[in-house]
Amino acid sequence: MDAVRLPAYEVKQMLVKGNLDPEDYVASVYDRIKRLEDKVNAYITIRSMEEVVREVKTVVEKEREKPGRYPLAGLLVAVKDNIHVRGLPTTCGSLMLRNYVAPYDAHVVELIRRNGGVVIGKTNMDEFAMGSTGETSAFGPTRNPWNYEHVPGGSSSGSAAALAAGFALLALGSDTGGSIRLPAAWTGTYGLKPTYGLVSRYGLVAYADSLEQIGPMARSMLDLSLLFDVIARHDVRDSTYYRKGAVETFAEARQGFEEGGNGLKVAVVEDFEGLVSRQSWNAVEKAASLLQRSGVDVATTRLGQEIVEYSLPAYYVIAMAEASSNLARYDGIVYGPKNPPESGEGWMSYYARIRSTYFGREVKMRILVGSWILSAGYREQYYMRALKVRRLVREKIRKLTAVFDALLMPAQVDYAPRLGEVVDDPIKMYALDLATVIANLAGVPAITIPVELTGTTPLGIQLVGKELSEPALVKLGSSLERETGITGVTAP
Ligand code: GLN
Repeated sequence: MDAVRLPAYEVKQMLVKGNLDPEDYVASVYDRIKRLEDKVNAYITIRSMEEVVREVKTVVEKEREKPGRYPLAGLLVAVKDNIHVRGLPTTCGSLMLRNYVAPYDAHVVELIRRNGGVVIGKTNMDEFAMGSTGETSAFGPTRNPWNYEHVPGGSSSGSAAALAAGFALLALGSDTGGSIRLPAAWTGTYGLKPTYGLVSRYGLVAYADSLEQIGPMARSMLDLSLLFDVIARHDVRDSTYYRKGAVETFAEARQGFEEGGNGLKVAVVEDFEGLVSRQSWNAVEKAASLLQRSGVDVATTRLGQEIVEYSLPAYYVIAMAEASSNLARYDGIVYGPKNPPESGEGWMSYYARIRSTYFGREVKMRILVGSWILSAGYREQYYMRALKVRRLVREKIRKLTAVFDALLMPAQVDYAPRLGEVVDDPIKMYALDLATVIANLAGVPAITIPVELTGTTPLGIQLVGKELSEPALVKLGSSLERETGITGVTAP
């Protein structure tokens, strides 16, 4: 029995019922890692198999004693390396934090443990989550398990690849401008960027606070909603938390899963036709007709040229401005390698030396651009204008989602690029985020669902809803999943 090819919820049931031996199951996952990880490079840190087996056994036992108490009992979760897991390194894919060990668990990690999940390792990522391909990592690029010549997408590259390769049952990513959704789409997996403020960012290393969210990644809709329900819980330590009790319970999310999207209204966002590749647009049209077939009311709409054209530049202005401020703390004193200053070396030169040595090229460029954007005289010209665009995007999405339960748009502009194809050209790399940044600017939830697995790389579509509309997205997603039959799939 190849447990890695099953949806997580089935694995959990088999473990608890005694139909799957914890040792065999963990061994089968580690076996795949041993065989394929040299090629995929999904993990930066992997925990020892013995430790993981022990934890799985303990929690499966506990779930048998109190059925239902541990919804994630025994499930192996891969955690993006910008989310703290106590005692393991949090490198953020950067040399700057190569030796940093997390002193505490992120809120989401506490919740995963409390619900029976077992962290298997920390996943590779673009340095400080800046990138769309996974290639800006200081630990080498991650490759797409579906096609090793191509990237898996980023910045949650390792989390997506780990799922697609069968190296984990569930994964956590973070999404500032598409970092969960883009890699999910290119690896045939499911990814959700939750409503802004619905998942605590406590223990997430900050990139651009006003845009980013931690979110679940999985190989089936039910797995995705299961993990979402576990992590979307109130936390007093995150002052941007939406409000207490805003989310449904898993029982309800699951009910939504069973109900499907019948009767809901979805609008295809036509602006993207012609802006994305033919294959990418075909995926949208295919999803539209599959949804229609399952009783969803499908219409068309437009965001308008302004929104589509200015979202990307507005996103990059805001993200870089916030990044330049957030990353000021890596000074080689509080954070970063503590290299002794050279004799007679002053603060300015030490700070500059540490930062120019241990940050990668993309990160340095963004800090420079971000500082420049915020400097006197340019603030109005760039930053303030970007905030205005953000408001326009918000208003537009609010208007449309008052009429429709979700907006259907492409997740990606095209197939995943080859390794090395875009990473040295910022304009090309940033253009990959065309369809994903909108949801971050608007603060609304967005989900990617796999639709095609047979092309150069997998392709997905995106459903964007209004604030707190995750249950509707789950309903629609489960209808689509039923039609595509893509559930529990790993790369061949
Ligand atoms: N590609 C985008 C960026 O580099 C988004 C990254 C993310 O969501 N973390 O900023």
